[in-house]
Amino acid sequence: MHLILAIVLIMLIGLVLWSVLKPPAPPGDNPRTKGDYEPMVRCHQCGVNLPQSQASRDNDGAWCCPAHHHENH
Ligand SMILES: [Zn+2]
Repeated sequence: MHLILAIVLIMLIGLVLWSVLKPPAPPGDNPRTKGDYEPMVRCHQCGVNLPQSQASRDNDGAWCCPAHHHENH
């Protein structure tokens, strides 16, 4: 009877240790979660939508790449 108790106890300790020591969620699994939503902009040349930070922008609007930007200037 003590053997079963010991096994259960070891399993419980292992479970606690595992939950404490396990690494956080693996990186790159789902980097974009709600909360860091980024406004989208539309390229004036080809109309593609892309995140604001990746767009080429000036006062006239936004473009998906420098090439499309230059075609408008
Ligand atoms: Zn474009």
